[in-house]
Amino acid sequence: MHRAQHSLRFDLIPKLELHLHLEGSIPPAIILELINKYDHTLAKTLTIESLTKIFQFNDFTHFLELWAWKNTFIRETDDFTLIANSVAKHLRSQNIHYAEIFYSPADFAKTGIPLQDMTEAIYRGYSKVDGIKIQLIADLVRGSDPKQTYSMLDPLLELQHEGVIGIGLGGNEAKFPPGVYKATFQRARDMGLLTTVHAGEGAGPASIWEALRELHPHRIGHGVRAVEDPLLMTHLAEHQIPLEVCPLSNICTDIYSDYAQHPVRRIFDSGIPISINTDDPAMFQNSMAEEYAGLMDIHRFSALEIQQLTLTAVEHSFADEATKSALRTSIIQDPQWTSHFIA
Ligand SMILES: [Zn+2]
Repeated sequence: MHRAQHSLRFDLIPKLELHLHLEGSIPPAIILELINKYDHTLAKTLTIESLTKIFQFNDFTHFLELWAWKNTFIRETDDFTLIANSVAKHLRSQNIHYAEIFYSPADFAKTGIPLQDMTEAIYRGYSKVDGIKIQLIADLVRGSDPKQTYSMLDPLLELQHEGVIGIGLGGNEAKFPPGVYKATFQRARDMGLLTTVHAGEGAGPASIWEALRELHPHRIGHGVRAVEDPLLMTHLAEHQIPLEVCPLSNICTDIYSDYAQHPVRRIFDSGIPISINTDDPAMFQNSMAEEYAGLMDIHRFSALEIQQLTLTAVEHSFADEATKSALRTSIIQDPQWTSHFIA
């Protein structure tokens, strides 16, 4: 993984995250606290360092196993408040001013916590943290029963005051094609919920085409494997379909062998609107600062191009116009840009 000397400076500039999973962003100290709550004996054998080592997975299947294991220690509504609060504080400490965060209610069906209580608990946790605006995207998770995902839409719409703005579709892309969720996404769009679909990460261009054709999402999560199909690249650029690109995540899950092999530069140069994101930073041990440093050092992005990426993220975020305008101003006028990069 790329650890760059620029990290400190990139820590200071105002940033956004549009593709971030709540359950993949929990700081290790908080995971340890939760393990201690439910399995004191196990917790006694662990330290933050050993826990961090456990999360060094071998491949995507191993990643999904660790994801599920960690989630078994999130059981009560208060746990959701705790994790949301810790994630928001961690983001704020990195000068992330705006974040859209996925949460995956289907992964916690066993807890029996109603969707409304879970969402309110998350909202209680992050809304206590000043200086960052957060909105929630419910990840319906591939493999879930399509009837059940459809039935979640009415309750989700009622949770707009608790920060819910849309739906997403993560999970195992190679195993579960998206077409079965067509009715869910159609109705979500009709209701005014915003939509994003993970595609072109664990599967190739055909998966992106299917997601576009069947679900018509406002954004695509990842989408990087579009580079394998020139027609698809042209389509994404012509229709200005935004991709939530997560370079270090793709390297951690072995889609690309290292940062230099990642197609982020090609996608950016093709005119497709992209944002840069960390995906699951507690599991990949990455940060926005490292992502930007890698773009500059390895892919020769200029400071202005990095600022452009940040502004593109604002443009294609699901924020209202007033929030977008405030974000644009805070980015353009931030002294870090003028003193370190632009001047
Ligand atoms: Zn993701």
